Amino acid sequence: MATMNRPAGLAGLDAVRRDIEAACREAGRDPQSVTLVAIAKTFGAAAIEPVIAAGQRVFGENRVQEAKAKWPPLMTRHGGIALHLVGPLQSNKARDAVALFDAIHSLDRDSLAAALAKEMARQPRRPTLFVEINTGAEPQKSGVKPQDADAFIAACRERHGLAIAGLMCIPPFDEAPAPHFALTAEIARRNGLKLLSMGMSADFKIAIAFGSTHVRVGTAIFGARANG
Ligand SMILES: *Cc1c(COP(=O)(O)O)cnc(C)c1O
Repeated sequence: MATMNRPAGLAGLDAVRRDIEAACREAGRDPQSVTLVAIAKTFGAAAIEPVIAAGQRVFGENRVQEAKAKWPPLMTRHGGIALHLVGPLQSNKARDAVALFDAIHSLDRDSLAAALAKEMARQPRRPTLFVEINTGAEPQKSGVKPQDADAFIAACRERHGLAIAGLMCIPPFDEAPAPHFALTAEIARRNGLKLLSMGMSADFKIAIAFGSTHVRVGTAIFGARANG
């Protein structure tokens, strides 16, 4: 069996792939409708290379600076890598973010929408944009409050001319995630948005049941992080 020759570190990737397929089967969904975004933050090339070798091509980072240092050499060595920004984005890093990332999951305020629109007018790059919803209305967390979501999405489209592809959420740490996934899916539905970035290592199977199209999985693939 091919899996017997794989480095131990890939057991996590294999398990996540199997779990995605099983969750899709249970939900009556096509496994191809769920993109696994492997969150590589804090991990270096030595940990990432075997995951690329195992066929994973979509990766996520939460910091622009870290991604900028880490990924250009990896992308030179390996074709077809797509890089997603899943962490908060400062407007003054919009230029770097548009240049480097194929998707941005954390659009959450008007000033950032303006900065991204400006960069997309300057650069021939159109990252896929997700609006982040702060479904738990947690004061310390980024994201648009659910009651402000429709107006914000409309402003992104009409005032800034941005194509919004989907929504992202990070449920509160200490709550059941299902109602947060359901709320995000409902906001997406009524705004005609097809993509849902929902689900991390602990809850991606539940997120798939609620229609997630992009699961952001770090720990279950790479192991525990030392920090970050
Ligand atoms: C780190 C991170 C993840 C991955 O979390 P795990 O629990 O390690 O799977 C997903 N989404 C965002 C926004 C993150 O910052």
